[in-house]
Amino acid sequence: MQSSIWFQTLDESQLRLLAASDPLPKTADVAIIGAGMIGLATAYYLSLAGVSNLCILDRDTALAEASGANAGGLWFSQQSPELGPLAPLAKVSSRLYDELAVRFPAGIRRTGLLELGANEEWMHAALQAGFRAQRVDAAALRRLEPALTEQPAGAVFYPDDGQVHPAKLGAALVAHLKNSGVRFCLHTEVSSAGLHLETARGGIDAGVTVIASGAWTPIVTRALGWRPPIKPMRGQLLATPARSPFLRHTIVGPRYYYWQLAEGPIAGGGTVEDAGFERGTNPADLASIREEMNALLPALADAPTACAWSGFRPYCEDLKPVIGRVPGHDRLYVAAGHFKKGIMLAPVTGKILADLITTAQTDLPIGPLDPARFPGGRR
Ligand SMILES: Cc1cc2nc3c(=O)[nH]c(=O)nc-3n(C[C@H](O)[C@H](O)[C@H](O)COP(=O)(O)OP(=O)(O)OC[C@H]3O[C@@H](n4cnc5c(N)ncnc54)[C@H](O)[C@@H]3O)c2cc1C
Repeated sequence: MQSSIWFQTLDESQLRLLAASDPLPKTADVAIIGAGMIGLATAYYLSLAGVSNLCILDRDTALAEASGANAGGLWFSQQSPELGPLAPLAKVSSRLYDELAVRFPAGIRRTGLLELGANEEWMHAALQAGFRAQRVDAAALRRLEPALTEQPAGAVFYPDDGQVHPAKLGAALVAHLKNSGVRFCLHTEVSSAGLHLETARGGIDAGVTVIASGAWTPIVTRALGWRPPIKPMRGQLLATPARSPFLRHTIVGPRYYYWQLAEGPIAGGGTVEDAGFERGTNPADLASIREEMNALLPALADAPTACAWSGFRPYCEDLKPVIGRVPGHDRLYVAAGHFKKGIMLAPVTGKILADLITTAQTDLPIGPLDPARFPGGRR
């Protein structure tokens, strides 16, 4: 399980939920490989669509990898320019997060985001995509976020962006899914994917299989003769001990980003490293995060770093996730490669998969995400 600040701010019952495993069933209507946020969201929307007899398999606990190691950023507006034609999916996901926030008390907060400096191009792209964004000058910035040093000349303000506590949302989803009869087979590595899955604990036959294995997806799909060009892109984050309310918004600085958890710690970072599956953090990167953090938020200069961690973003070479049917396999689906946006896009991804599996179609614009754009799987 992750050592991230998210797990350190869970209670014992939430930690137990994420690690509680069921016996492996012999069959499942739908088997999902991966208990990250994409696998959990897929199970949630499938169960809402009336699919029962669902089984989620993971070789570790739920949220053990990227989905428990991220920044929890719901930065739909600020990130929308990077999504380009996929911005409509971000809008749907944002709306689905509003619904989830009503159903699950999972720390989903629309705190607003301040991007320091003047990224006017992005601001206009966000506005054009129908998101709210506004330029604020230095005086307005000081009023909005008094904790910031006086140096920034201004910022772009995205009032609708916010944060989720991914481990609290994950634990709430697991509790709900378990109550709905979904089985969680954890510490169960899938060695052969398909409609018959081989695992270290035995075999299971599935009506439909969904591969939601994050950065490990090409390894899981290898035996199917198809490997999407997805690879790990490591990111490091750190957090201070808890303190009283201090930072009101998410702050995006020149190199890294920062936010305060509702539980008190200030967290930040977000390196992007092509370092393979090398786990851990390194002192030089953490020092660089602290240097910017202390410069922007001088009151933190004396605060120790209470914890630091890293995770593997599933990076797809064309920067778009791969969602849909595995080429050449009728009842096999894949949902992976969300890179920096897998938490944001988890609900819409789950909804797309549920639509495709239960009705063989979706109204959502998923053409650019089609796995068949990588026919031979290029790795
Ligand atoms: C530092 C950092 C910051 C980030 N910040 C944000 C952010 O602010 N907002 C945002 O939207 N996104 C963010 N992300 C990205 C986001 O975390 C990912 O896109 C998302 O979590 C991917 O979810 P996933 O379920 O596809 O993958 P994962 O969470 O990695 O889950 C994959 C699961 O598959 C399991 N698995 C793999 N192989 C097998 C096998 N053979 N058998 C069984 N199980 C297997 C793994 O154990 C794992 O649990 C960040 C990521 C990092 C690392």
